[in-house]
Amino acid sequence: MPAPLPRSNAALAARDLAVLWHPCTQMHDHETLPLLPIVRAEGVWLFDADGGRYLDAVSSWWTNVFGHRHPRIVAALKRQLDTLDHVMLAGFTHEPALELAEALVALAPPGLARVFYADNGSSAIEVALKMSFHYWRNLGRGAKQRFIALSGSYHGETLGALSVTDVPLYRDTYSPLLLQPLFAPSPDTYLAEPGETAAEVATRRLAELRALLEQHAEETCAVIVEPLVQCAGGMRMYDPSYLRGLRALCDEFDVHLIADEIAVGFGRTGTLFACEQGGITPDFLCLSKGLTGGTLPLSAVVTTEAVYAAFYAEYASGKAFLHSHSYTGNALACRAALATLELFRDEPVLARNRELAAVLARELDALRDHPQVGDVRQTGLIAAVELVRDRATREPFPAAERRGLRVYRHGLAHEMLLRPLGNVVYFMPPYVIEPGQIAAMIRVARDGIAAAVG
Ligand SMILES: *Cc1c(COP(=O)(O)O)cnc(C)c1O
Repeated sequence: MPAPLPRSNAALAARDLAVLWHPCTQMHDHETLPLLPIVRAEGVWLFDADGGRYLDAVSSWWTNVFGHRHPRIVAALKRQLDTLDHVMLAGFTHEPALELAEALVALAPPGLARVFYADNGSSAIEVALKMSFHYWRNLGRGAKQRFIALSGSYHGETLGALSVTDVPLYRDTYSPLLLQPLFAPSPDTYLAEPGETAAEVATRRLAELRALLEQHAEETCAVIVEPLVQCAGGMRMYDPSYLRGLRALCDEFDVHLIADEIAVGFGRTGTLFACEQGGITPDFLCLSKGLTGGTLPLSAVVTTEAVYAAFYAEYASGKAFLHSHSYTGNALACRAALATLELFRDEPVLARNRELAAVLARELDALRDHPQVGDVRQTGLIAAVELVRDRATREPFPAAERRGLRVYRHGLAHEMLLRPLGNVVYFMPPYVIEPGQIAAMIRVARDGIAAAVG
């Protein structure tokens, strides 16, 4: 037998860097930045090959809502593996797919009645954009060919999803390849005028959206938004009244409303879905990330019976939605999602999240007066801290200085996975985090910020 290969951080990282290409990474960084091999995970903790551990304060890119290897999700997956792994979902169905669809329709805002699966967040956005466009076309309104998105939005990386994304770092290079949506100003409260409340910002931004719709509604299929928090765009937050006004404008101007709850869905903002806080039902609700509790890739687009009906006709009409992905409605992923929803059903998750959010708010006080902190904001179990060069003017640090990266390094040296978005240090922990761990998370961030801005 050959000797086993060494299983240290250094050995695994070296093998990785010889063959792998990582997401959202300039690989050259790893000439100086250690790549961390994770060999095991449990609850909030990730363990590396040298015995180090890291508290997953960003829920592994916001997916891992109930901690790693939650026993109920693990058990459900093991049982599912013994009966059905996967079957194509065209012409066939299975209990995990249909039970999950039933459960999602029961939980989603009233009026949503049909579930279309895909296998990642970006694909769900592609589905929603294509469905909206195709709906209008099926109704004989082929002039509707454009979308409206918000400034600072993020909806994914595939070409359609990237088209409605407004993060220059990800979008600009590819802009010649992309659809040309209209961008309406975000109701982002950070951009408030002096003395303006969050609700007043929302009202002002709705007036600007109205002006855009008055000019362009005839050519517009849908407005797409991230309800309450624009996450990848820097955890920018806004008032729920914007959602109410947005729903009214979409109805008035006959355009769809696409709610991208891929990041904010499943209890993150204090309600199961963020849309609930605006009291609205979107025409398309896009879900992924937390849907499977962070175990397997899966996404779903939940839409209305009216949308479904516009596609339902004799085959020869050419009205069918012929979009597909090989792994559509994967049985294991659907089973993981069902187990995740059972946790919401059987445990007081939202009540506990509100308690944890209150703890988080108290701990964040330690950061509010820091001279290089321009803003501290929170919605439910998402909190963010804006690093600035000058607190009075909110002048940002130049992106090239990569201050956030210094916070990241400091965090790893202190058992904490914090992965800032540029100058925004944020917290998005699994819901199983303990109050003491929240305190530790903020302490490490505070020291990391001090080190990064010094
Ligand atoms: C992560 C994210 C996406 C894209 O999901 P992927 O699974 O990474 O393709 C889309 N929209 C929002 C709001 C997201 O946070």
